[in-house]
Amino acid sequence: MREDLLNELEAEYEVQRLANEKTEAARRERIRQEFPQIEAMLSRREEMIFGTVRKIFSGDTDAANLTEQMEELNRGIRSLLRQNGLPEDYLAPVYRCEKCRDTGYRGDLIREPCECLTALYQKKIRESIGLQNGKPETFETFDEELIPDTPDPATGISQRKQTVFVRNVCEKWADSYPDTEIRDLLLTGQSGLGKTFLLHAMVHRLIARGHNVLMVSAYHFLQMARKSYFDAENGVQELMEVPVLMLDDLGSEPMMQNVTIEQLFHLLNERQARNLCTIISTNLSLEELRKRYTERIVSRLNHPKRCMILTLDGQDLRKLER
Ligand SMILES: [Zn+2]
Repeated sequence: MREDLLNELEAEYEVQRLANEKTEAARRERIRQEFPQIEAMLSRREEMIFGTVRKIFSGDTDAANLTEQMEELNRGIRSLLRQNGLPEDYLAPVYRCEKCRDTGYRGDLIREPCECLTALYQKKIRESIGLQNGKPETFETFDEELIPDTPDPATGISQRKQTVFVRNVCEKWADSYPDTEIRDLLLTGQSGLGKTFLLHAMVHRLIARGHNVLMVSAYHFLQMARKSYFDAENGVQELMEVPVLMLDDLGSEPMMQNVTIEQLFHLLNERQARNLCTIISTNLSLEELRKRYTERIVSRLNHPKRCMILTLDGQDLRKLER
């Protein structure tokens, strides 16, 4: 889990717990002011609890018999709350999540994140990657019916068949990570063929499986790289270290001499040396990549044991009639 997001969430839980306490105190106060009959019973219960504790400390073994009286009193309180139009659990501890009581963690000996914390964490990480808007682009929402199925006369393979093949490779990769022999993927093809969709689908699956992923556009990467080059401030450090990095739309960023190529090489080289996974999408072919970024960079990607090149071909899906 990412430390910064986790800290943010823990602070939110703390705020929630304080709000819960406030609600509890306000409810208790309302009873004190408006329902003297219930208040009287609550006082009796408090006395009984203190009395019991005293008796236990003084070695009175009859103390256990008080349990029944206590239960009767509780029943009486619940019924009075009902009669006064309040919910039965009006005075019970307040929390959003019953499982962790808004602590975010479960278990005494082994503390594990509660499902509510995990769900919020995943939501946060999706938001931080910019996946919160619109219909989620996942393997589940991938609709092959939208892709033309006419076989290419030269190859006999339709755009749909090819795209589904690439989709399946991506899904399998996301499901097998981190036990993937091939560490890097390069998705190439014209724009509008579904590369970014597949990147998003992989991000969703990896996050759902609890992995740490970052996705940046090549444009954003260049901005960070530039900052790091001129300000000697290491803005790209996070990109160097994240276990899975998605670099979207390589080739769309402006080319800056002594910056773009240098930083891109540094990024790929560093990540490969650490055996971290990098998934890149680009509209450029290998040949075009070579022209733009030099052989030094392309050789990092055109490396069968290390990187799988997946090519999408066909018509721009965004321009097709739906
Ligand atoms: Zn919880």
